[in-house]
Amino acid sequence: MILEAKNITKSFINQNRKLNVIRNISLNIEKGELITIMGPSGSGKSTLLNIIGTLESFDEGELTINGKEIVKLSNESLSKIRNEFLGFVFQFHHLIPELNVIENVLVPLQIYQNEVNDFYAKELLEFMGIISRIKHYPSELSGGERSRVAIARALVNKPALILADEPSGNLDIENAEKLIQLFKKINDEFDQSIVIATHDKNVASIGDKNLILNKGLLSNSDII
Ligand code: ADP
Ligand code: MG
Repeated sequence: MILEAKNITKSFINQNRKLNVIRNISLNIEKGELITIMGPSGSGKSTLLNIIGTLESFDEGELTINGKEIVKLSNESLSKIRNEFLGFVFQFHHLIPELNVIENVLVPLQIYQNEVNDFYAKELLEFMGIISRIKHYPSELSGGERSRVAIARALVNKPALILADEPSGNLDIENAEKLIQLFKKINDEFDQSIVIATHDKNVASIGDKNLILNKGLLSNSDII
């Protein structure tokens, strides 16, 4: 097991009212598992993904990633997990404007390695159909192209667990389909685990395990 979330709860206070967004959710992620979480807008998908990605705190429960209990970790150890173990594919990404496409994609590798091999970065850009833009700067790209570059950047260090929040939301149909193929391919080839939050039934159907999030509760889907 690479991630274990146990009895997680999370609430927000909105205009003096307590909103129980995540209610006693438990989720185990095995190596190589592809999990989809489907739910309507506002059901807590992003909150749940942010919590298991260590980007957001929770009220109660336990979160263990790669055998380490998250609340006990120092900031330094947490950063290491985020950089080396987790990959985030979110709808809104920020590329570094002063770096061109390939330089942006290589940033995660440069943090830990002196000699950076760009072979896999180029393979990812090729797969996402954006290799011809390799020397372009973010300001010279469309929103969808920038998303595809950010996706390559999130995947370049082959994270053991990829968390994707509505990953195809910003892409046209063709590129959304390519992204799903890419997820399946790396899940197959490198045994990377992937969790995809989506409201799209087609995307949700690719999971080994399809979960439904509704009113803060997680259940197995029987509609796919
Ligand atoms: P989803 O990703 O499924 O659309 P979210 O996790 O973004 O759902 O949000 C779930 C609920 O929690 C929504 O009602 C949202 O308004 C509320 N919420 C999310 N983040 C915050 C926050 N930082 N402060 C207050 N309420 C929040
Ligand atoms: Mg969301």
